[in-house]
Amino acid sequence: MKKTGFLYDERFLNHETGLMHPESADRLRVVMSQLKETGLIERLRLITAEFAETRWLELVHGKDYIERLKTHCLSDETTFDFSDNRTCSETFNTASLAVGGILKTIRMVMDGELDNAFCAVRPPGHHAESGRAMGFCYFANVAIAAKYIQANWNIRRIAIIDFDVHHGNGTQRVFESDPSVFYYSVHEHPSFSFPGTGRIFEKGTGPGKGFTRNYALLPGQGDKEYMKLMEVDLIPVIDQYQPEIILLSTGFDAHYDDIMSRIKMTTKGFSIFMERIMELAQRNCQGRLISVLEGGYSLLRLPELVSNHLKILLGEPPDDYPEDL
Ligand SMILES: [Zn+2]
Repeated sequence: MKKTGFLYDERFLNHETGLMHPESADRLRVVMSQLKETGLIERLRLITAEFAETRWLELVHGKDYIERLKTHCLSDETTFDFSDNRTCSETFNTASLAVGGILKTIRMVMDGELDNAFCAVRPPGHHAESGRAMGFCYFANVAIAAKYIQANWNIRRIAIIDFDVHHGNGTQRVFESDPSVFYYSVHEHPSFSFPGTGRIFEKGTGPGKGFTRNYALLPGQGDKEYMKLMEVDLIPVIDQYQPEIILLSTGFDAHYDDIMSRIKMTTKGFSIFMERIMELAQRNCQGRLISVLEGGYSLLRLPELVSNHLKILLGEPPDDYPEDL
């Protein structure tokens, strides 16, 4: 059994998004109740969050943006930058805890205390840009994580694999000219999906040319196409890059039961995808992998999707769940 970390903190529930918002605290509540019910939680190393130091937030975000979000959360306003970015008085603190918790998890993996980890955080991060919040995201969790690794360890090649069904515009922007971070995103085609970026011709700029890769799937596509893209593109491309650590932007919103896309991945499809990623990490970086939750909004399916994700991180076989495609 692998030593798998699990970052979770009750305070991640404090970011309130109001009624009917898909990015709700219930997402984590339903996951936690299944992990407790099945006892899976006892096989994981629990990690609690801590606030991020401002200097680490500044690896990606401007001082003025950080200050603007902090001040905003002291006011009565409930949206920030875009109408779908709902905020409350605890949004800044929750977003800071998510980042701080991820950085703590990274230290544990880098020190060899853990083999790998899953960070069950909210709010998510891959749409946040240096100066604005976007798509339910406030701080660029995974981009900050990669910059933090670069700042503290002698790591020359980091791969970020983003399989949230939406393109991670924020993460791509941070690293598009940086060849020491390979950003690979698979998502629903931007002509049909938020935020409208992530076209195949977006391949990085300057010295980073060739180190950003976008693979877009069409509405209605699912397991078969994911398997094919892994075989013909994702796996050979990342194997060739030989990352020293892999960060995952893990979104479960490509599931056929998730209303946020028309991509039709099954729970089993997600498991096979993750097993291939584990093999990739094993071959390239002794299994060193940190997975960070992005999207995934089906309260019905999230518990099984996260449970199987964790089982695969532990090196256990995933479970079968009834599929109703
Ligand atoms: Zn998403």
